[in-house]
Amino acid sequence: MNPQTFLNWIDGHWQAGETFVENRSPSDTDDLIGRYTQATSVQAQQAIEAARRAQPQWAATGLEQRHDVLRAIGDELIARRDELGRQLAREEGKTLAEGVGEVARAGQFFHYFAAEVLRQLGGNADSVRPGIEIDYRREPLGVVGIITPWNFPMATACWKIAPALAFGNAVLFKPANLTPASAWALTEIISRQALPPGTFNLLMGPGEAIGHLLATSPGVDGISFTGSLETGRRLAATAAPNLIKLQMEMGSKNALVVLDDADLDLAVECAFQGAYSGAGQKCTASSRLVVTPGIHAAFVERLAERMRNVRVGRALDEGVQMGPVIDGRQLESNLRYVALGQREGARLVCGGEALAHPERAWCMSPALFDEGRNDMQINRDEIFGPIACVIPVRDYEEALAVANDTAFGLTAGIMTQSLRHATHFRRHAQAGCVMVNLPTAGTDYHVPFGGRKASSYGPREQGPHAAEFYTTLKTAYTRA
Ligand code: ADP
Repeated sequence: MNPQTFLNWIDGHWQAGETFVENRSPSDTDDLIGRYTQATSVQAQQAIEAARRAQPQWAATGLEQRHDVLRAIGDELIARRDELGRQLAREEGKTLAEGVGEVARAGQFFHYFAAEVLRQLGGNADSVRPGIEIDYRREPLGVVGIITPWNFPMATACWKIAPALAFGNAVLFKPANLTPASAWALTEIISRQALPPGTFNLLMGPGEAIGHLLATSPGVDGISFTGSLETGRRLAATAAPNLIKLQMEMGSKNALVVLDDADLDLAVECAFQGAYSGAGQKCTASSRLVVTPGIHAAFVERLAERMRNVRVGRALDEGVQMGPVIDGRQLESNLRYVALGQREGARLVCGGEALAHPERAWCMSPALFDEGRNDMQINRDEIFGPIACVIPVRDYEEALAVANDTAFGLTAGIMTQSLRHATHFRRHAQAGCVMVNLPTAGTDYHVPFGGRKASSYGPREQGPHAAEFYTTLKTAYTRA
């Protein structure tokens, strides 16, 4: 049987490009999910023009209608979370529970921003000049490019698309080519809503071609990007001369500090969830475990024990707790880092091996290093896999310094029962999100999300602060 083919959604029509990519499951490379078309640059240009025409119509659509569109998208995602979560797990490799949870979360972003449609309030002020009144309000940014990675193909897309639409923008959605099925399913849901044609466009295609084209087009007002630091830097260099507004979430190297007075069970569970859920392929993952001497031996022993009991395998198999990594290239890169860590002098406590699998699943056992130093390459680079390293430190002060000694600053966590240390850490961790007695991964959908230093560039995402990127303020002066 020929595999099904899936097209781009441009100006209210499904359109085939000249080429297709194959979407294969990382759990079984013989499992062909479908063939997904690749937009040509002419089609991308058409989509940009359509978005420019549609955007003012969408922005002028009544608030209740816009609310209802977003609400309906959220309702359908949540109602179909089992089916779409299964497809997500099949194409991305996270477990079924994680896939279903992600689709439900994607729906919640639409529900949240449906409500935000009705909360677009401005402000007013007296002028310093008598007889003049001032008011200010938010207007849409315009046409926005949304460029997403493969690790949260539904959630990341939705936390960008929902506010973009809520605030009256038109969207050009360029998903990662490794996970087009989730992007296409989301588009199919959006395509059935009452949006002016061209308000929402799907442009599957290579980043270097389609992503690059968006960053060079005078028809694009802003780009919201999540991906690697290297791609983010390239994107910024391309977009800046065109004065395209940017919002970017990039790499990370998050630390979880474990102090002597931590609850050991909780510390082990939070480290495990933070470092290894989603096979460690999260920008919020805790890949550096910074541990003080009094708890060090017990913590490492218990965490290793927890890891040895994890069932790694194909994402959709019964009882599997950790799926494969995204593809063969990522697996190779992970294994190179395991070897590098050993050469650098860290002690491999457990895991770090490719697991033989008849279906060629890209599986590896989660790896834990001990006796790491913060200046080792394995503790500087974002590995983006199920690999974490314990870095022993003398005390809280050194732990804080090590946690902050990184190019990145997305999340930081601390496990302690000391109010003094928890409070100090919340204040002084150089990260956009700080977690106390919680895993570094796992955030809510109604509050700001983002990082510092090389992790983020531009305004925050999610929650009410999403308006900072997706709108522009207008201040109006009126002589009464
Ligand atoms: P990941 O491996 O997490 O997907 P990447 O940074 O490689 O991270 O890619 C993130 C997104 O950026 C993907 O959708 C990719 O296609 C896109 N992309 C890649 N190169 C470029 C580029 N030069 N300009 C714009 N987008 C790009």
